[in-house]
Order: sequence, then C-alpha cells, then structure tokens
Amino acid sequence: MAGRPPIPMRFADVIARKRDGQALTRAEIGLFVRGVADGSIPDYQAAALLMAIVLKGMDDAETTALTEEMVATGDRVDLSGIAGPKVGKHSTGGVGDKVSIIVAPIVAACGVVVPKMSGRALGHTGGTLDKLESIAGFRIDVSIPEFTEMLRDVGAAFVGQSPTLAPADKKLYALRDVTATVESIPLISASIMSKKLAEGSPALVLDVKCGDGAFMKTEAAARALAHSMVVIGSRAGIRVEAVITRMDAPLGRAVGNAVEIIECIDVLRGRGPADLVELTTTIATRMLLMSGLYDDATAEPAVRGAIASGTALEKLRAIITRQGGAPAVVDDYQRLPGASHRGTVTAPRSGFITRIGAEAVGRAAVVLGAGRERAGDRIDHGAGVLVDAHVGDAVAEGQPVLTLLSNNARAIADARAVAAQAVRIGDAAPPPRSLVIDICTSN
Ligand code: URA
Repeated sequence: MAGRPPIPMRFADVIARKRDGQALTRAEIGLFVRGVADGSIPDYQAAALLMAIVLKGMDDAETTALTEEMVATGDRVDLSGIAGPKVGKHSTGGVGDKVSIIVAPIVAACGVVVPKMSGRALGHTGGTLDKLESIAGFRIDVSIPEFTEMLRDVGAAFVGQSPTLAPADKKLYALRDVTATVESIPLISASIMSKKLAEGSPALVLDVKCGDGAFMKTEAAARALAHSMVVIGSRAGIRVEAVITRMDAPLGRAVGNAVEIIECIDVLRGRGPADLVELTTTIATRMLLMSGLYDDATAEPAVRGAIASGTALEKLRAIITRQGGAPAVVDDYQRLPGASHRGTVTAPRSGFITRIGAEAVGRAAVVLGAGRERAGDRIDHGAGVLVDAHVGDAVAEGQPVLTLLSNNARAIADARAVAAQAVRIGDAAPPPRSLVIDICTSN
C-alpha cells in the first residue's frame, strides 16, 4: 500500500520509533495490543513500549487506535435489542463518590436506559460494587446476557466488569502497575475508554474528578484527561461529555459502604446534602440531555421531578429487587450492616473548617475496614466515616467533625490518627465553591 510505512518485522523497532518520539501506526499499535493479549509479546518488551509512551506521549489518532485495538481483544455488549435511548456514566473515582447509585435510578425513571459496569474499592477510593453489596443478596456477578435482560426489565443495572470486555486492558494495567507506567494521559484514557466502548452505550457522561482525593490532582491534568476521553469517544463514534468536578473534600456526609447506601436513599427521598444533590442533579441532567429525549428546558425539571414524585426511589427498589437484593433496606436502614464501635475526631480549636482532606478521610476509611489496600482484601460493609461538619462551618473546640465506624475496636484509634490529618481550622470560612468546574464536550 503506497504511503504507509511497512509493518515492522521486529517489535523492538516499534519500541525504538516511540522512544524517538514518532507516532505509531494503527498496524503497530494493533501488533502491540494483540501481542499483549495473546502473550506473544514478552512483558519486558511491552513494559519498554509503555515507558516510551509515558515519556513521549501519543496523539489523538494513536490513543484512539490503542483504545479500539483493546476493545477488539474481547466482547462488545450489544444493547441494540433494548428499546429506548441508552446513556452510560463513569467516574474517575473519589471519596464518598456514590453518584452512580443515585443517578442511575433517576435517569432510568426518566425513560433512559443506564447500563452500568462498575469497579471495586482500591486504595483510598471507594467502589460502587462494594457499596451495593452492603445490601443482602445483591448480585453483581452476572453474565452479559443476564445484564442485558436486567436492562430490558428495569432500565438500569449495576454489574461487575466482565472479564471478557477489553481483556488486553487488564493485562496492560497489571503491567503498568508494577512498572511505574500508570501516570500517562493516553494510557489512562485508552484504558478507561476501552472498557466504556466495550459496554456498548452510544452516549456517555464522564465525571472526571480533580483534587486531593482524586486520581488527577490538578485541574490541568483533569482537563487533559477529560479532553482525551471526549476525543476518543467522538473518533470511535460515540457521544461523550466530561464533567470536571472537585474532589478536595469527601462528597456528601458518608464515606464507606452501608453508610453511603443510606445517603443515596436519602438523596432519592429529597433530603440529601447540598453538595451531593448539586452534583447528582448536574450529572443526571447531562445524561438526559445526551439521551436526546430532553432539552435544556425539560432535563433538569425531569430530574427534580423524578425525586419529588418518588419514581426515582421506586426505580432503585426495582433495581435492588431485580438483582436479588432485599428492597426493604429502602425503608429500614437497620437491615444494612452496622458498626459495633465508634470514635470521633474533634475540632482541635474553635474557628471555621477550611479543609477536610478527602484522601486522608479515604485512608482512614480503609483502616476502619471500609476499603482495601490490595485487590481481594475483605471489606467491613458497616465501617466508614461520617462527616459531621463541612468546609465553611463554624466549630467550637472539641466539637465532633468526623465520626469513625468499625467492627474492629482497635482500628478506631489507628484511623483517628489518620483522619485527624484531614481537618484544618482557620479564622475565616473559605468562599463557597461549586463542585462543577467545567463541562468538556467534543464541539
Ligand atoms: N482507571 C482505569 O480504568 N485505568 C487507568 O489506567 C487508570 C484508572
């Protein structure tokens, strides 16, 4: 074929081209991804190319090719048999981030299908699946055909990531984790988007978090990741919008598993904390707009209406029932796991709260048993942290700021030392800031 560089015979040549800052061809990227998936490229060569990508980057065409080649290594969910518009949602992760569990029933109650494959807690960030598993009997481990049946029956479903979707990503991520090659915008965006494309939604709203408790610590990094994922989506033929949001403090009042489920139900009953209501309303509204069923005049009123009328809460009940869980938790929080031990972190002096560091609160939640240090660790679903006073609140010395919950008495003291580092008191309240920084679209 005229004009195209020949496919290199040796993978070492591909590594050398990226080392020298050249753009790789689709064929070279395909060779790499298929070679990782089938094991024909050894880890040392794959790791060398990953490091070259970290150092030299990838342009939009390369990043999209990497994403699509990863999708091609596995199955792709076919949602075409399900009636109605479908819109997916993904968050890059944070502390107290329970937004998916609130927006999926709201958006489904408004007539838009929400297919949701989620992850588990790792490090200081929580996982949607662990939160939902606080509900006795809730099944997240289902086949793709069962997932699509659930979507057809109820309009929304929360399931674990199928191992047959983008399997190359799993292998590549494991390698990146041990070769210091996770921190790269093209590699992160291709990793996330390969799984989202394989999930089959024609439209997607991303919540790209930035700040102390997020994967992206700075606004500039969050913007770059958001832009990269939006571009991949549009080049790959789906509509993607990214909402860039602050994750400096925990979201809402609850961090953990059962305590977050309670907070989700509270929001759906119309009595959630202001920051969480603001963010869930924004994300759900963007999802309705992307569905094409609603416009600027009707989307947000539909979201508020689904909460006010109780239809969103009914939808959550239906999701829980369809997935084998006990829907009575919606009316009786005592049916959720609790904690036998409590402790508090109090204000070290009188003044105004200027900071509740999300990462330190997330780390304290892990110490209490609510999260995991390593994949596979067991979780205490009743453990967690309650945020009793928020940034901007006036507090008196000795007043409780955080409540620590665990079923392990010894964990309380250890977690208190970690959580105390989260709290800063000043002489004046900082100016209030919206959680939503910007919305990034492909236009
Ligand atoms: N989450 C992912 O799924 N992939 C990454 O590379 C980083 C975060």
